[in-house]
Amino acid sequence: MKNIIAIDGPAGAGKSTIAKSLAQELAYLYIDTGAMYRAVAYQALQSGVALTDAGRLAQIAAGAQIDMRLEDGQNKIFLNGREVTAEIRLPQVSAAASPVSAVAAVREQMVPKQRELAARGRVVLDGRDIGTVVLPQADCKIYLTASLDERAERRYKELLTKGLPADLAEVRRDIEERDYRDTHREASPLRQAEDAVYLDTTGLSIEQVLQKVRALAEA
Ligand code: C5P
Repeated sequence: MKNIIAIDGPAGAGKSTIAKSLAQELAYLYIDTGAMYRAVAYQALQSGVALTDAGRLAQIAAGAQIDMRLEDGQNKIFLNGREVTAEIRLPQVSAAASPVSAVAAVREQMVPKQRELAARGRVVLDGRDIGTVVLPQADCKIYLTASLDERAERRYKELLTKGLPADLAEVRRDIEERDYRDTHREASPLRQAEDAVYLDTTGLSIEQVLQKVRALAEA
C-alpha cells in the first residue's frame, strides 16, 4: 500500500511524538486519529450530551467537520471551522474520548474519514486500530508501548510543560482506566496486529525510539 505507516499502542506510549517526527523527516503527512475522537468528545461535552447516549454521539460524529492542518510546524485541529487544538488535550476531554470512541456508530463515521485521508499515501497514522482495522494493508506497522508508570510520568510532564494543572496519581489512574476500556471494548479494541513490530519504549529516549522506528520504516 502506498507508503503507509501505522503506529498503534496505549495512551502515553509516545505515539504522537514519534509519528509526528517521523512524518516530518520523511516529508509524509501525519494523521492523528485520536484527535478525531477527541474532537467528537469535545463537541459532546460542549453540547451537554451524555457519554452513554450512543445515538446522539453518532449524530455528532456524523455532523462533525474535522480538519487537520500543518501550520507553522504545528498540527492544528479544527472542528466545524474553529480551532480546538488546545481544548481537545484537556484532561476531561481525554477521559471522555475513550467512552466516545467505544461507540461503534462513532467509529463507523471516523474510520472512512481516516481511510480517505490516508488514500493519497505517504502518511503516518497513529491510533489504536490502524494496523488491525483502519488500514490492515499498511506497509509498516508498529505497536508502541511502555510501562504504565513511565507512560503516566510522560503524560504528567507533558501537562506540566503546557502549564496545565496535573496530579501524577490521577494521570496514572486515568491512563489505566483508558487502557482498560480501550482493550476491552467490543468495537475495534486496542490490540497488536499480528504483523506489527512490538516496541517497548520503557527507559528509552525519544531519539532512541525514533532511531528504531526510522529503521523499521526504511526497511
Ligand atoms: O491517542 P489519543 O490518546 O489522543 O486518543 C484519544 C482516545 O481516542 C483514546 O483513549 C482511544 O480511546 C481513542 N482512539 C481510538 N482509536 C484510535 C485513536 C484513538 O479508539 N484510532
